[in-house]
Amino acid sequence: MAQCKWCGKSGIFLILNKSGLCSICSSQIIAEFEQKHRLFLESNSIVEKSKNPSIIASRTEFMISILDSLTKYENAGIEIYNIPLKKLILDCVNDSNLKLLNMLHQTFYTSKEKIDNLKSTNAKVSAANKIFEELNLFSQYFNSRGQNFSICKLRLDEIRNEFNSLTQNTSNFCENAKTVNPLKKQFEIKHTVNEAVEIIKNRRSEIEKQKDLLYRKELELVDEGKFNALNKVSEKIQGLDFADVYQKAHLLEKSEKIDTAANLYWKNIFVNGSDLPANFTRLLILLNKLNLPSEELKVAEIYLHFINESSKEEIEKRIVRIKKKLEK
Ligand SMILES: [Zn+2]
Repeated sequence: MAQCKWCGKSGIFLILNKSGLCSICSSQIIAEFEQKHRLFLESNSIVEKSKNPSIIASRTEFMISILDSLTKYENAGIEIYNIPLKKLILDCVNDSNLKLLNMLHQTFYTSKEKIDNLKSTNAKVSAANKIFEELNLFSQYFNSRGQNFSICKLRLDEIRNEFNSLTQNTSNFCENAKTVNPLKKQFEIKHTVNEAVEIIKNRRSEIEKQKDLLYRKELELVDEGKFNALNKVSEKIQGLDFADVYQKAHLLEKSEKIDTAANLYWKNIFVNGSDLPANFTRLLILLNKLNLPSEELKVAEIYLHFINESSKEEIEKRIVRIKKKLEK
């Protein structure tokens, strides 16, 4: 006996169309589909043309919600498009993320050039603040349903780090741009342990490569007798030096600027990819003093990925202690 796939009505005289629907359901579903499909195409063409990341993200979200609203039919065995909706959704999200990733690169590299060309410190500071805000917005734009989501996020973090070292290395204007520093006065690690470990590993190899290039440059400049340029390169190398940053943080700690010191220790790990054990242990002590057990736990768990066998047990014990504290 014929039975409509959607309303479930059945009967000997019920006529179904090719999709297995009765005539009432068929015309209702077709009307709904046509209307939604039109909205979908409209948004799609906006996404294709737009240069505005916020519009691309919100339109993609809207397109996905349209497709989501049609899955109930597909679940009942009614074919909507000739490719499964799941696949269509994935394609939309992946495309959108990819487009946004390209925009992120463009935004960052053009702004970076602009900053380099600006003369006044004030102008540099306000330009830097603006890029920083824009970079932060991208974390909301990327769609977590995309297969490329984690890559997008990783790249965003790398660019944020590049931005941080740009504001610290190319000039001293970061001193005046307090709001550029995302960590400010408090201490917060916004990543999961695994994410942070991945980022630190990438940073570490990146910094090693940079140093290697700079060392070679130094040698060339010595050979050529270009001592002014040599000083600049040596300064750059020093800026990448873990021990140097560690010393600065240690001085801050001694002058009781504990939260600033903690942030600098963390920066040494997260941005410079430092593997100095003292840097990790000082940070853990400060986070304990600041009474931030969940951040302390994260740092300890991150440290476990980089630690020597000999110190492993001590940190594992510390982790147990922090967890007990957190349970209270
Ligand atoms: Zn029906």
